[in-house]
Amino acid sequence: MTDPTLDPARTSWVASANGHTEFPIQNLPLGVFSPAGGGPRGGIAIGDSIFDISAALELGLFSGPALEAAQAASGRTLNDFMGAGPAPRQALRRAVSDLLATGGAGQAYAARLLHAASACTMHLPNRVNNFTDFFAGIHHVITAGQMTRPDNPVLPNYRYVPVAYHSRASSVRVSGEKLVRPNGQRKRPDEAAPTYGPCRNLDYEIELGVWVGEGNQVGEPIPIGQAGRHIAGFCLLNDWSARDIQSWESQPLGPFLGKSFSTFVSPWIVTAEALAPFRRAQPDRPDGDPKPLPHLWDEADQATGGLDIDFEVYIHTQKMRAEGTEPHRLSAVNGSILYWTVAQMVAHHTSNGCNLIPGDLFGTGTLSGPDVRTEGCLLEMSRGGSRPIDLGNGETRTYLQDGDDIVFKAHCGGAGKVPIGFGECRGRVGPALSL
Ligand code: CA
Repeated sequence: MTDPTLDPARTSWVASANGHTEFPIQNLPLGVFSPAGGGPRGGIAIGDSIFDISAALELGLFSGPALEAAQAASGRTLNDFMGAGPAPRQALRRAVSDLLATGGAGQAYAARLLHAASACTMHLPNRVNNFTDFFAGIHHVITAGQMTRPDNPVLPNYRYVPVAYHSRASSVRVSGEKLVRPNGQRKRPDEAAPTYGPCRNLDYEIELGVWVGEGNQVGEPIPIGQAGRHIAGFCLLNDWSARDIQSWESQPLGPFLGKSFSTFVSPWIVTAEALAPFRRAQPDRPDGDPKPLPHLWDEADQATGGLDIDFEVYIHTQKMRAEGTEPHRLSAVNGSILYWTVAQMVAHHTSNGCNLIPGDLFGTGTLSGPDVRTEGCLLEMSRGGSRPIDLGNGETRTYLQDGDDIVFKAHCGGAGKVPIGFGECRGRVGPALSL
């Protein structure tokens, strides 16, 4: 273990961090928060608290490369910090880990450095200039594709191209906001003509979000071997989907109003450094699948590009909340089901010379496995609304109802490793605006 910030033996003087299921000292995710009575600023989650980067700057606790990095990470967005690349990010991580470690110099200033997370408001960590949604969960592609093309669910390009579309950046929101049910054009097969009204088939999609670090110039593709330095960190992403609006409008072009009404992300950026212990080999492609073209193939990426992250989806209905019952787990899936690595997504995205900008957001595509209860959206779980899902309390769902809370969680662990988590991506469905 050459990186002391990842040493499993390292503990913190912040007592709640030790054994914390999300934010032990080995995680240190970055975000933007407002303390009670204060304005937005950069922070780092530690146990049940948030470390205030600007307070540490005022106290003169940083020097050298970490000082410059802390200045870039202390404001109301992290874009400039993200764009500076891995070295400043790693310098800040080391400095903050040392300040928070047992015996670290930060303890003498605990009252100024730490805010109770429960008293803070989280914000979007970056100004999102671009949001690209991939389609890398192959079991989602198979299960959803079977509904329209039973004999040919996966089109031939899929195994060569990390398929994606440009989604909407302006409506990306942070966990905890309310989702307004979208209005739109809907037409069931038994209806002669479309009508305009509230979405009838509202769905979520659980995805891994990817925050872009360093950008690239127009016309200069990022080689796959260098993609890693352009990936700053990760979050949870809910690609809310209006299935009825989507299916009517997507003939023949791709998703538009069925997706653009809102996308939620978890507030904390789990850095590439914190996730490093949880990388694994990308699983071999099934027999008969083609090897990707050379510009999408890198042996080192294949050796470490898989992500051992356990994702979970929970629903907490109005009835469950009223009766005081726990949220119901809808599904769970491991990130190793992704058909394409994040490095392959970066290389493909820029392979035509398209430029990425610091703080750009990717979604990986719906994370679904091949089995029941590993499916990452209701479209799959309910087979297009034809198979109600039992919530275990007398309620069923095909699609979401007003008042439903959808909560995503993600954790990493394993023998000899300190487990870390992503925090939550949470959203409550609210009624459509009246017409
Ligand atoms: Ca999606």
